[in-house]
Formats: sequence, structure tokens, C-alpha cells
Amino acid sequence: MILQDSEFGEVVVRKNALARGVRFSVSTSGRLQMSVPKYTSSFLAKRFLAQNREMVRAKLPIKDPSLQRARDAKKKILMKKAKEYLPYRLEYWAKRYGYRYDKVRLSHANTRWGSCSSSGTISLNIGLMQVPEVLRDYVILHELAHLHHMDHSAEFWDEVGEHDPRYKNHRAKLKQFSPGV
Ligand SMILES: [Zn+2]
Repeated sequence: MILQDSEFGEVVVRKNALARGVRFSVSTSGRLQMSVPKYTSSFLAKRFLAQNREMVRAKLPIKDPSLQRARDAKKKILMKKAKEYLPYRLEYWAKRYGYRYDKVRLSHANTRWGSCSSSGTISLNIGLMQVPEVLRDYVILHELAHLHHMDHSAEFWDEVGEHDPRYKNHRAKLKQFSPGV
């Protein structure tokens, strides 16, 4: 579960069957994390946090919470925009070129713009809302082509090129952006 804390921003709470007490740590991205016993309610987790606030503040290297909060807010806005755009854009291209996918998922992974599973689920990164439309379309067409080729073979690129003749240029340009929010 995730607690929204006014001081620390998003606090990730992990329930651990073996934990007997509460442990605080910092994630690689500088967020506060708590490990709590299995049946801890969010009410109780909040109370543990309140009781340990001084200690957390003094001892843990948490990233500037205002930056973290700004990022949280940005992520929320991007997610909202993405929800209203990406599934429809995907559907548009799929219909236009006769692709059938199973479902679409919106992600906010730091490393990839999109993915396509063998079961036909296409994931699109909400960070796509921050890049020019032609590059967004390139990623969508790329993932759709994976429905026919689950690799990056010559046949795969041929298919991408059929729908996006400037894909090489788009692919290179996309490298100037990062999918992380
Ligand atoms: Zn690919």
C-alpha cells in the first residue's frame, strides 16, 4: 500500500509476514519505505510513521520531499493525459492497419517506452505524453508490429517501416528523451 504523507510524499508500505516490528528504509529513488507486519492497517501504518517522524527525518537520506512531491504531481497529470489519449491512439492505429491486441496497460517504468507480450497485452509508458506526437506514434506502431514478430528481426523492421517510413529517424530522436518521469 502507499501512504500519502505531507512531509515525505509517497511512502511505500510493504507487508511482510515475518516482520515483527516496523522498519524504515529508503528506496533507490530516495523514497521512504516501511516494512510492517502482515495485518497492519493503513491507520496503524500512519501512526507508526507519525511516531517515528523525528527519527526518519534525522537518520534517513530521503530525497528532497518537495521534489518528490513535484514528481508525484507530474506523474498524476501525465497518467491522466495518457489515459485519455494512448488507448485511443493505439486503437486508431490498430484498426487502421488491422492489428488485434488483447489489452493495453499504462506503465511508468524508467527504462522502456513500451512493450508487447506474447498474450497480446501492449504496455505504453505515460512518459510518451512528453514526447512529440510522431515519436509516440512510432512507439505504438513498433509495439503493434511485435504482435506479428516477437523479436527485432529484419521482418519486424520491415513491418514497422511499412507503417512508419521514417522510423529510423524517429527511433534515433526518441533516444534524446527518457521514459522516466
Ligand atoms: Zn521492440
